[in-house]
Amino acid sequence: MKHLFSAWPEVTARLREARHILVLSDYDGTLTPIVERPELAVLPEETRELLGRLAGNRRVTLGIISGRALDDLRQRVGFSNIIYGGNHGLEIEGPGVNFFHPLAEEIRPLLRLIYELLARVFRGTPAVLVEHKGLTLSVHYRLVEDEKEAEKVRGIFESILAGARSLGKIKITSGKKVLEVRPPVNWHKGKAVQLIMKKYSKGGNRSGALAFYLGDDLTDEDAFQFVEKGGGIPVFVGEENDSSAAGYFLDSPGEVSAFLKSLLEELEKQGPA
Ligand SMILES: [Mg+2]
Repeated sequence: MKHLFSAWPEVTARLREARHILVLSDYDGTLTPIVERPELAVLPEETRELLGRLAGNRRVTLGIISGRALDDLRQRVGFSNIIYGGNHGLEIEGPGVNFFHPLAEEIRPLLRLIYELLARVFRGTPAVLVEHKGLTLSVHYRLVEDEKEAEKVRGIFESILAGARSLGKIKITSGKKVLEVRPPVNWHKGKAVQLIMKKYSKGGNRSGALAFYLGDDLTDEDAFQFVEKGGGIPVFVGEENDSSAAGYFLDSPGEVSAFLKSLLEELEKQGPA
């Protein structure tokens, strides 16, 4: 795994060759610092400005793919000319892409029931936040400090969902202090990235798109794999981590911001936007 800045000469050479550049990124923990409650995750002003400038560069298409619901994500980022992938890519909207996973819709009534059940069970535990996101559902427990208590939360979650999971009605995934319930479909951030990459590498002046994908969590690993397969540049955000499928890393959301800035400067150097 290489630090992305130590591979910068290689990156700039790839940028020069690319007809189009896809900058795809996760949101929480990648563009924003990890916070105690998901509603507090605000885009730093500098990052927002850089994203806006990148989105305005005609060589670049920007996409943000998150476990958040699409509307929530769009509200937090606020630009209209970028691609948003909500619920880990089950819903994707933006320039050139409009996708809604057809089977995801079927799970809505069951998710509603599971949400009500989980919300009731964790009602007396304010450190646990149950979030209903339409097509998926999250249980956040970052505020549960004691590891034994966290274990208990995971145990309760699993026992409640065991039946539905063994019947194949739902899928369960986990990330940094978050447990998720998803539809039982083979769809994830990797498939979302693949779909976007396909749209942007079809013929015409869009051939030869170079894709970056930046992410900090387990759910980003699928995206790293698909970007790698598509000849792109997968970047893990966090301490150097050899168990990640990404070949590059940046230390923190602060470094991600520095990367966006360097990318923008390089593109401006290479020619008029
Ligand atoms: Mg993240």
